[in-house]
Amino acid sequence: MKMVLMKRLKTFLAFVLTLSLLMASGCPSLETSVSENSSSVSETSLEESGNGSEMPEKSESTFASDAVNSALPTNKTDGFVEPSETSQSEESSETSETTASSESSENTEITISTETEETTEPTNLIPEDTLSETDQETASSETTESSVESQEVAEEVIQQFEVHFIDVGQGDASLIICDGEAMLIDGGPSDKSDLIYSYLQKCEVSQLKYIVGTHPDDDHIGGLSGALNYATVERAFCSVDEYDSRPFSSFQKYLNKQRVVLEIPEAGTELELGSAKVQIIGPRVKLEDTNNNSIVIRIVYGQYSFLFTGDAEFDEENSLLNSSYDLSSTVLKVAHHGSEYSTSDRFLKKVDPEYAIISCGRDNAYGFPKQSILDKLKDQSVDLLRTDIYGDIVFVIENEECQIYVEKDVSDDVFIAPGTIETVPDSANTCDYIVNTNTGKFHYPGCSAVSKMKEKNKWYYTGTREELIGWGYVPCKICKP
Ligand SMILES: [Zn+2]
Ligand SMILES: [Zn+2]
Repeated sequence: MKMVLMKRLKTFLAFVLTLSLLMASGCPSLETSVSENSSSVSETSLEESGNGSEMPEKSESTFASDAVNSALPTNKTDGFVEPSETSQSEESSETSETTASSESSENTEITISTETEETTEPTNLIPEDTLSETDQETASSETTESSVESQEVAEEVIQQFEVHFIDVGQGDASLIICDGEAMLIDGGPSDKSDLIYSYLQKCEVSQLKYIVGTHPDDDHIGGLSGALNYATVERAFCSVDEYDSRPFSSFQKYLNKQRVVLEIPEAGTELELGSAKVQIIGPRVKLEDTNNNSIVIRIVYGQYSFLFTGDAEFDEENSLLNSSYDLSSTVLKVAHHGSEYSTSDRFLKKVDPEYAIISCGRDNAYGFPKQSILDKLKDQSVDLLRTDIYGDIVFVIENEECQIYVEKDVSDDVFIAPGTIETVPDSANTCDYIVNTNTGKFHYPGCSAVSKMKEKNKWYYTGTREELIGWGYVPCKICKP
């Protein structure tokens, strides 16, 4: 098997230009301003990142453009750092392309490309070291190809396959387009209905061959109403055909309007989307839990395969592992937004993805994705892309070549879980003492030691000194309560 992957981690503006030039049925007008989405890479130490995992030092690289840099979030470590990173080819203001041999799968050839569009200033070129290393072997510069040439080649190609992992905040939404046919798997939450509507509009997808709600949770089916407002649908699937929630009845209502009957697909169903094969492989058994009853879909296009797992947890993963289905996939949409109750070691080994996608909201209330899952992916040298960091993530396969586009090129470390936001209770303002539950000492609220205390260790106590001493707590020697 020969596979060529090309990555262009650069602004979505460049993406728009590329696609409008290259794609016959692609997204011609995904507009996002450069100042919003561009960023630079800044060097930061491990200590600053607050994560104990070893990361290599990376050389600093910045954009020449201050305007671009000013839009940066104050983030920590570089994006997309792999444990044993090797340097990529030199950056050129025109075009540079690097071909690297891979050891991860049979004769896999990975091409990492950074090229500028005619209308994009060279200063907007994203430095190569923001690119992920898909492989640990050193890249060697072999070919140089102008963007004009590659566009000419692409114009002759009719067949193409796209997978859009749409950034819907905390939720899932994936749009698959193959040879002019489209399919939507989940639509994000209800409050992203407008976003789904306009995304389909921008992609000129006014007909969906299939619409799938993997399961009836709002963060998956809520936004499907937006899709149904814009596009006509041939067939609709969900893991249930009745469910008592507003988002679900809205989904049903818009399907009824189109006279489309919601189907509960059986595992083993095979569908066609252009020349791609859509295999519904789960749920195999009916489980009570909504998440564990998620429709699981594997889509195969040539030598590439994508696995969409909804919010499946261990139980459903196990039932898939006990089946004869081929689970191996080039790209895994990580189940349940990177929850610790999904993506078991066995399941991840079986899928053995080159890329993993985590779809989740920035600073979401659940703390997704969980560090344990990120560690697992990192240990297996899986290349990770997260919608909370990169925004929309689009895979385009043409001519057996896969290119990945991301909306934002921010410099967060994808392998670090978001911190949980600490909330201070009301009793913080009215308490008599603050107890450090970790050390067993108690303080007056104004004590200097309190400001250094971790929020999770604080107990805002209203009561007497004697009570605390009676329970074995010790008065602080600084504030002497
Ligand atoms: Zn769910
Ligand atoms: Zn979910």
